[in-house]
Amino acid sequence: MIQDGQLLNYIGGEWRRSRASEFLDVRNPATAETIVRVPLTPPGEVDEAVQAAQAAWADWRRTPPTERIQYLFKLKRLLDEHFDEIARLAVDECGKTLAESQGELQRGIENIEVATGIPSLLMGYNVEDIARGIDEHMLRQPVGVVAAITPFNFPGMIPLWFLPYAIACGNCFILKPSEKVPMTMSRVFELIDQLGLPPGVVSLVNGAKGVVDALLDHPAVRAISFVGSSPVAKYLYSRATANGKRAQCQGGAKNPVIVLPDADMEMATRIIADSSFGCAGQRCLATSVAITVGEAGPVFREQISSVAATRKVGYGLDAGVEMGPVITTESKQRIEALIGKGVREGAEVLVDGRGASILGYERGYFVRPTVLDKVDPRSELAGVEIFGPVLSLMQAQTIDEAIAVVNAASYGNMACLFTSSGAAARKFRYEAQAGNIGINIGVAAPMAFFPFSGWKESFFGDMHAQGRDAIEFYTQKKVVVERWPREWSRKF
Ligand code: NAD
Repeated sequence: MIQDGQLLNYIGGEWRRSRASEFLDVRNPATAETIVRVPLTPPGEVDEAVQAAQAAWADWRRTPPTERIQYLFKLKRLLDEHFDEIARLAVDECGKTLAESQGELQRGIENIEVATGIPSLLMGYNVEDIARGIDEHMLRQPVGVVAAITPFNFPGMIPLWFLPYAIACGNCFILKPSEKVPMTMSRVFELIDQLGLPPGVVSLVNGAKGVVDALLDHPAVRAISFVGSSPVAKYLYSRATANGKRAQCQGGAKNPVIVLPDADMEMATRIIADSSFGCAGQRCLATSVAITVGEAGPVFREQISSVAATRKVGYGLDAGVEMGPVITTESKQRIEALIGKGVREGAEVLVDGRGASILGYERGYFVRPTVLDKVDPRSELAGVEIFGPVLSLMQAQTIDEAIAVVNAASYGNMACLFTSSGAAARKFRYEAQAGNIGINIGVAAPMAFFPFSGWKESFFGDMHAQGRDAIEFYTQKKVVVERWPREWSRKF
């Protein structure tokens, strides 16, 4: 909720004006206009949110799962009713196209749908007669107060990787959304406010590092979910676990695709272009390196350059726009500087997206699609996450050589292969060191009922977001061994 141009927090079932003395401007990246101010909430108010959550938990954990999911059914209905409005709001703060915003919100809603299956998903298991008259059961109980810290690039979807499962499992949940895109969740929480949830079951606290650190150090917060860049993911994981908390921290990426000569080249080009330049390359599953094998090289280079050069860039709510701006002016500068660095390292610019100026949006943070060729796998550009619409091309002579480049990377979020050979596909699936694999797929995003499985520097923790991993993360297993001697039964 917005009051006097300032976002409020949602704590203990009510909208509260923060006592913050510092605020940040949230800008529309297509126009650079300030649309709202977000408070950097001080730690005292974080404590109020945790206390409200703790107070609510005593009864929420006793609320039957079948009752808990009724709130989720209602939330899904409300989100469906306000779908377009929320997607448009996300375009304005995040810079995507409307279709991209709608897509991510839909993916978020699918997590609510999966979490409504919690009465089945929560089931434990048991064995009778582990010894005579003794039975053993595994029960799942909620963890308590849990918190999620989310990034700018999916303001509608990523908070919903966590919130539905957390509360369905009987936890109380606190969200700290990205300070760059806090409006989408503020609007979603206005809908959550209509659900009639007990006060404190969910809270929304705006801010940046100060809020995160207060959550990390609060003894009553039992689990931390994080999605963002790898250095921050690593920091949160270390501090949360040092404080005895459970943590799942998803980090950054540098995703490679391999294109074999037997691939359907038209399909591969279209799909890889969507993966590299969709969401202005600001997807943790964006393709940023394409390794062609043998004669796939010249064809792919020509086709991808043509698609990149003709992609329509602009404001995401304007008709026909295929790619929006990047998130901030700093981000634009960083991306352009990295392209320059790549060139100094010996890369050849096939399509140069620097210095973009979009008619009517001259102040926007636009970088056009960029394609760099002959990128050396050992160069800095080849290893760093650019997080913009920049595709680096590399050439290999064999699939083994290409897989070696994939596996030398420090990240392991996603790796894809384009081929019509089943044998090549199986080899790649088997050998590639990444947690999300695509075969003739450019954005191998797991559905809500599968875990979002990053590896290496792309993930710190054990249990991933979504699906059964979410249930594991948001519950603790309790194993009960019971003795009921037979002679006691004879009394009845
Ligand atoms: P970010 O790491 O800058 O910020 C993420 C969150 O952490 C924000 O809420 C921010 O307020 C907080 N934060 C930032 N610096 C902090 C610090 N020093 N201490 C404590 N908290 C801090 O990430 P971003 O720029 O918002 O998002 C882009 C990054 O997220 C990219 O690296 C992208 O690959 C990654 N990402 C990963 C996934 C995934 O599933 N692995 C999904 C989406 C985005």
